[in-house]
Amino acid sequence: MAGEPQADCLFCKIVAGDVPATVVRETETMVAFRDINPQAPTHVLVIPKAHYPDVVSLAAAEPALAADVLVVAGEVADQEKIVPSETGPGTGYRIVFNTGAGAGQTVFHAHAHVLGGRGLNWPPG
Ligand code: 5GP
Ligand code: ZN
Repeated sequence: MAGEPQADCLFCKIVAGDVPATVVRETETMVAFRDINPQAPTHVLVIPKAHYPDVVSLAAAEPALAADVLVVAGEVADQEKIVPSETGPGTGYRIVFNTGAGAGQTVFHAHAHVLGGRGLNWPPG
């Protein structure tokens, strides 16, 4: 059934607690944890607990969950103090959804990368 845990999925194993992760935020529907190979001072992955192979299939099946990914990404940015501010330390951040192997997706369980804490080039590679 759509959304059910997949036995061979690394991120389903993190959701289940079978693979350890440094969790920075958890809600009823989402888990946010530090990327094992960080590309910026803040590099957190936000994933739905439900299994969908990418964010677009998540949005098509469960639009409220796709919105929750962004809500939690914003909360993580706040926690990490990377929200853009003229008075605070935040420099801004980037939310990335690599979609498809050719675009760099390696784990086929929907996830947002929240990247910040350094200047970020545009366009990305
Ligand atoms: P993708 O390449 O699919 O957009 O992103 C997958 C991300 O998962 C990569 O940035 C990779 O570093 C991260 N990753 C892969 N395996 C693990 C793991 O076991 N634990 C954590 N925390 N991150 C992982
Ligand atoms: Zn999964």
